[in-house]
Amino acid sequence: MPYSYEAPVSQSLFDRASQVTPGGVNSPVRAFRAVGGTPRFMVSGTGPYLTDADGREYVDLVCSWGPMILGHAHPEVVAAVRQAVARGTSFGTPGEGEVALAEEIVERVAPVEQVRLVSSGTEATMSAIRLARGFTGRSKVVKFAGCYHGHVDALLAAAGSGVATFGLPDTPGVTGAQAGDTIVLPYNDLEAVQEAFHRHPGEIACVITEASPGNMGVVPPRPGFNQGLKDACAKNGALYISDEVMTGFRTSRAGWFGVDGVVPDLMTFGKVMGGGFPAAAFGGRADVMAHLAPAGPVYQAGTLSGNPVATAAGLAQLRLLDDAAYEKVDAVSREIQALVVDALAAEGVAHRLQSASNMFSVFFTDREVRDYEDARRQESFRFTAFFHSMLAQGVYLPPSAFESWFVSTAHDERAVERIAAALPAAARAAAAATEGTA
Ligand code: PLP
Repeated sequence: MPYSYEAPVSQSLFDRASQVTPGGVNSPVRAFRAVGGTPRFMVSGTGPYLTDADGREYVDLVCSWGPMILGHAHPEVVAAVRQAVARGTSFGTPGEGEVALAEEIVERVAPVEQVRLVSSGTEATMSAIRLARGFTGRSKVVKFAGCYHGHVDALLAAAGSGVATFGLPDTPGVTGAQAGDTIVLPYNDLEAVQEAFHRHPGEIACVITEASPGNMGVVPPRPGFNQGLKDACAKNGALYISDEVMTGFRTSRAGWFGVDGVVPDLMTFGKVMGGGFPAAAFGGRADVMAHLAPAGPVYQAGTLSGNPVATAAGLAQLRLLDDAAYEKVDAVSREIQALVVDALAAEGVAHRLQSASNMFSVFFTDREVRDYEDARRQESFRFTAFFHSMLAQGVYLPPSAFESWFVSTAHDERAVERIAAALPAAARAAAAATEGTA
């Protein structure tokens, strides 16, 4: 193997981090608890590659969990950031950059008539829910098991990846009152949605769903599911919120809306639109957004909202994301998907590769995965073996079986060759894995 499994510098950084930060990380999935081993502390990224503190280079299939769709340190994004930083980093006033970013979002995503910028996807979904409640005067929120919408109290019930990874069905600190108005339903089950509206007439403010879920692994909506949600909401006076934090400006120029065309009342965005900086947004129908302060009574604010550096990075990234860029990401994604399937099939490993445009993930099961229950039934111990083999060979996968893999326009032939070279041994490791020993 060209890569030693040891990572002494990362290990010593992790030891230091664990003294001063809970679990040694600032976001749980980074700690590798689902797969074991030493989390790699990265020091730099260029194109499709990351370099860790031990000086090892990896082909990156996480892309910062989605944002880095042009690869790391894209020269034009870096130049835009440099220019913005030199002008000052935060003013606490309106600025032209945030107007331009809002205009770009409105231009790309037809259902968004007005948009408010925030700093994280969590803030976006939290604010969208508050607005939906304020607009409708209702309390209850419908979400789907396995969908993650950030760590919003009301939405941390059956919330997919991070929570799935740690096997915590609920988190301490979220009170019964905070979660009590949340109705959790199985994903892809329209009957359950009709039934919820039937049982709670006039009480449901909104249905929030990942436009195409990536937080229980990739589980696309069945044909007609999103439209069915939209129709059920319209019929019952509730708002349909499509969470495009992950899919937005990734699965197409207009995100998942650009794929299925279902028109939500509100949408949330993050990741790609920030170009690797903390920028996110929520937006939608102008008559609903008009209820937001200072235009209306629903309060929402942020010291760093519309930050000039973050908006410059996001705008530079979005402007580079033309049709050709999406074709490139889609093509390289398809190529990698095919390689993964071939390698696992060659070793007779039961698997399902599921995709939503260029997002994809592998489930270690031979059955279609339609919801969170299906996802949990996979043999995730095989993923652990697969993951560590890929890591040891210099390919950085998401450290959990319940996450989407992400690629970028920078994933070129050389990067794909390195993935191809690593896959056979990883597939053999997955085949040989047994429960409890991986
Ligand atoms: N919504 C979705 C669909 C997400 O995937 C995420 C993060 O992964 C969020 C919301 C929360 O975004 P953030 O981590 O920026 O708070």
